[in-house]
Amino acid sequence: MQIFAFDKGGTPVSALLASRQNNYRCLECGQTVRLRGGAHKQLHFFHLGPIGSCRLGGKSLLHLNLQLHLQTLLTSQECHLERRFPEINRIADVVWEKEKLIFEIQCSPITALEVKQRISDYASLGYQAVWILHDKQFNRYHLSSAEGALRHFPHYYTNIGLNKRGIIYDQYSIDRQALRKERSHPLSVDLRLPSRGKHSTRRAAPLLRLRNKSWKLSFAGDLLDQATSSELQKTIISFENRFPLPQKRSWQELLLLPYRMLFRILLEKSCD
Ligand SMILES: [Zn+2]
Repeated sequence: MQIFAFDKGGTPVSALLASRQNNYRCLECGQTVRLRGGAHKQLHFFHLGPIGSCRLGGKSLLHLNLQLHLQTLLTSQECHLERRFPEINRIADVVWEKEKLIFEIQCSPITALEVKQRISDYASLGYQAVWILHDKQFNRYHLSSAEGALRHFPHYYTNIGLNKRGIIYDQYSIDRQALRKERSHPLSVDLRLPSRGKHSTRRAAPLLRLRNKSWKLSFAGDLLDQATSSELQKTIISFENRFPLPQKRSWQELLLLPYRMLFRILLEKSCD
């Protein structure tokens, strides 16, 4: 389901201005779509036939809800929903033109490859992708490959439901071998306030230093913005003490490893 569709003349029309009596065409696959929703359900277009591999048709109501939430947050004059980029064959969820940002909302599984491809496609047109991952699918005990791939790129989580309650948030997470061992309380992120400057993370935890280096921007309230907060520092130290990173062996130790193994084998044999 989606918020925009082409009318007979090929002009994109919002579901808010569409009529139930007319047929429209999907922006992505060109199939016939119709208007649905109303008093209790967000107005949207749905495919009359099977969705197939159409990415717009596969979107959930939760997804549409989040798109509209971002539009309200960033003001509709400055951002566009479901904007087409024919040159890369993509339709972006939310585009904030002035800031050259694209918000990609993800409520369903996605591969790491597709995540990286989208980031690079949008970057080729000068846009920075910012991912909003929904709790319904992400931020679980087992890290998805997509979350692994997003470590080096701006991404946040959200728990905003169909009742429109919830927040977009960041967190400090202790991940060991693709398992999320511990996480801080959610830090509410204000997407209206992006910052492209680097933060002072000289004394911060390795994860924050890594993020400061690799993320092209941050937002008010996120981990980088709060890197120097004493409360956050305390949380991070307690987490890191409980789940220390495996120590790296020195080259001397690595050099001695085969001799140690040989010694152990000889010892075991002598005890037989
Ligand atoms: Zn479609």
